[in-house]
Amino acid sequence: MGKVLIIGAGGVGTVVVHKVAQNTDVFTEIMLASRTKSKCDDIAKTIKERYGVTIQTAQVDADNVPELTALFNSFKPELVINVALPYQDLTIMDACLAAGCNYLDTANYEPKDVAHFEYSWQWAYQDRFKEAGLTAILGCGFDPGMTGVYTAYAAKHHFDEIHYLDIVDCNAGDHGKAFATNFNPEINIREITQKGRYWENGEWVETAPLSIHQPITYPEIGARESYLLFHEELESLVKNYPTIKRARFWMTFGQEYLTHLRVIQNIGMSRIDEVDYNGVKIVPIQFLKAVLPNPQDLGENYTGYTSIGCRIKGIKDGKEKTYYVYNNCSHKAAFDETGMQGVSYTTGVPAMTGAYMFMTKQWQGAGVFNVEEFNPDPFMKKVAESGLPWHEIIDNDLEL
Ligand code: NDP
Repeated sequence: MGKVLIIGAGGVGTVVVHKVAQNTDVFTEIMLASRTKSKCDDIAKTIKERYGVTIQTAQVDADNVPELTALFNSFKPELVINVALPYQDLTIMDACLAAGCNYLDTANYEPKDVAHFEYSWQWAYQDRFKEAGLTAILGCGFDPGMTGVYTAYAAKHHFDEIHYLDIVDCNAGDHGKAFATNFNPEINIREITQKGRYWENGEWVETAPLSIHQPITYPEIGARESYLLFHEELESLVKNYPTIKRARFWMTFGQEYLTHLRVIQNIGMSRIDEVDYNGVKIVPIQFLKAVLPNPQDLGENYTGYTSIGCRIKGIKDGKEKTYYVYNNCSHKAAFDETGMQGVSYTTGVPAMTGAYMFMTKQWQGAGVFNVEEFNPDPFMKKVAESGLPWHEIIDNDLEL
């Protein structure tokens, strides 16, 4: 029980604030801080109207460690939930160490000037968090996050050894726009235009961007073309489950989306370096973000479902077994509850659930942790009660 500080008033931040406000027995004081304070105030107003709960708000530049530290020292949160951008992970972790706060995020660190993400930068904080007696929980959204907990749950209850892991992420929703991304466009486009990568027989196999694809059938949705990408949870899962022989991540994209993406790349609008425009330095992908639909405004007419899960093959009691655990989330239901679409919702609910696990001392430990290192059982129970119920299919054809 105690105070929580949420950083980032975007799509995911809005969902996290709704969800912590639904659990005030545990989150006894709530603050939302972001670059633009008026966005925090708007969310706080909605929460007051919906739940009668007071959210304190503050302006903060999360790239600035002294500014963050001063805010943490004045509010004294037990836990800081970072749902700003991956660029801010390290500055927020530094400020947590300086002010003695625990930390949770949903995406691993990525430097602004290189489109590359990996855990090494944050795993390097292990000794400092351990020595300070503080907890850092990394990657607690849906993917990464829920997918790591699903894998831990499968390992605990269904397998002696996991051999093959395929994480399958389908967005079968329709927002009616020709092109829009479901979360921060800059982060999203940087992620999917990178080379693909999967784990096989003890090493990473690199693939050309979006070059490997096949139809995968999603429950209550049907077959959707799914593309192999590198995704950050693969890195921690193959480390924490060394029996894994192959681990892959698949995401669906429609043809219209891929055509737009190709044009954006071909005309240079996905560039992340500075260009001179009439004497002003601009980064094309940041300019593109300014003209694309805001992911937070997609919710109103969004129909259909997301379907994300883990398809696992391995051995139980000497026999081969298959296991598929997944959640389907309705964009409309997410919007009706929080004003945000399903992608923000499926990220924000596990973030609140991880925070709840920490505050109720069900997830504890000094150091830096990925979610699969904790007991999955209380998380699976709480996340289902909090809007993301999950389903299991045992010993069926996994297609992959
Ligand atoms: P948004 O762009 O909607 O929101 C980001 C928020 O962070 C904005 O309010 C922005 O402020 C604020 N912000 C950015 N830079 C700073 C800064 N320097 N100081 C203070 N505040 C800052 O992003 P999303 O809500 O879509 O995504 C949030 C996070 O969730 C991202 O890290 C994303 O990668 C992650 N994510 C994780 C997923 C998962 O399943 N694990 C899935 C989807 C997203 P302003 O409003 O002023 O721009």
